[in-house]
Amino acid sequence: FDFPISDLEYAQKHLSPGVGKMTNLEIEKGRGAWVWTTDGKKYLDLTSGIGVTNTGHCHPKIVQAAQDQVAKMIHAQVNIVYHRPMLDLIKRLETIMPAGLDRFFFWNSGSEAVEAAVKLARHYTKKQNIISFKGGYHGRTFGAMALTTSKTIYRAGYGPLMGGVFHTPYPYCKQCPVSIATDGKYNVDNCCNNPLLELEQLFKMGSAPSETAAVIIEPVLGEGGYVTPPQGFLKALKDLCHKNNVLLIADEVQSGFGRTGKFFAVEHYDVVPDILIFAKGIASGFPLSGIASTYDIMASQPAGSMGGTYAGNAVSCAVACATIDAMKEEKMLENTQIRGEQLMSGLRSLQKKYDVISDVRGLGLMVGVEFNPKKTDVTKIADAISKECYNRNMLLLTTSIFETLRFIPPLNVTGEEIDTALDIFERSLETVLH
Ligand code: PMP
Repeated sequence: FDFPISDLEYAQKHLSPGVGKMTNLEIEKGRGAWVWTTDGKKYLDLTSGIGVTNTGHCHPKIVQAAQDQVAKMIHAQVNIVYHRPMLDLIKRLETIMPAGLDRFFFWNSGSEAVEAAVKLARHYTKKQNIISFKGGYHGRTFGAMALTTSKTIYRAGYGPLMGGVFHTPYPYCKQCPVSIATDGKYNVDNCCNNPLLELEQLFKMGSAPSETAAVIIEPVLGEGGYVTPPQGFLKALKDLCHKNNVLLIADEVQSGFGRTGKFFAVEHYDVVPDILIFAKGIASGFPLSGIASTYDIMASQPAGSMGGTYAGNAVSCAVACATIDAMKEEKMLENTQIRGEQLMSGLRSLQKKYDVISDVRGLGLMVGVEFNPKKTDVTKIADAISKECYNRNMLLLTTSIFETLRFIPPLNVTGEEIDTALDIFERSLETVLH
């Protein structure tokens, strides 16, 4: 395999150009919050592979679980047999899922799990339409792509998309003086982009409840801007859905598995959805996803109508067990809360110093920093800062809609690493502004 161009150039020539790349880094090794390139450079990884390696890169317990399982059994197809890691995982999932969500279906990726949730909602309700939130990201397969509106590039030219999909505004209450009452509770009537009123109107003018199977929401808007809904909103949303006989689906693909300091973000809002979608963090980097629902809802699907070759892969399930165990044993959720506060308070101090930072928001270690483009001459400031961080050996992702950066370190990140991240972020901001 000796070619006159480098292996990287060769790969770039042969890989689909449709896959965007933030960097050209060639990664060889990862440990905790750090990755190393083949030429020995070290980077602080605040992306966790888009919120996947929640236990850090190559956590020893994860590596051990994968190695043990690979030596025993790699592929035990779920339409043919049961396998031990899945039996073990089901018991663990029951202990961490919101009450009542004790029926599971496993898939490989987040997008597939979204598709499975849509299929389940349609089958159970015998209705077709699905309502998703503007700015939401639910994946790139055909059904998921129709639900996704965080960027037109994901959809443009790929239609016709799945039918029966409607969109409604996400509550974006940044610095809104009226929607949050003094007691911190969500005041629906005062909300300026009143998302519940919009949804009610959609039920009247676009997608009748008699035709609507479900509303799907990210409990923290991910790719669309790391927006946290105001307290009380999700509860009011669930009430409105149920009043109209419509299911509520929570897409916890990014916000789940400890990312927000609780196993699932809906727990912060005291809401149990009808269907919960999980992926990413569940298996520390191995492909595994799924949905959780109630017996009533899931029992509606006839045997044989669901399944897939790799669904609930044995190695992925073994690693998922080790992931949940490590999170509990090493108190990673507690660490997420502590380090999340450290990160947010550091960023809030920077917000006081730099008026270009218009908002710092998030839950646990799912933290977004938004910039006000009117306060700077720098175009695409979030991109520019991300590039500067990269120049200083730190990986930091942007989001799609607003000028926002997202901080997604592993849940076992140390205080020192957060300080390093804050320092690199400030120095990068300074360089971009001056
Ligand atoms: N839903 C959400 C909320 C996501 O963040 C993502 C991935 N970023 C997906 C679904 C799709 O997951 P996957 O890329 O594994 O298909």
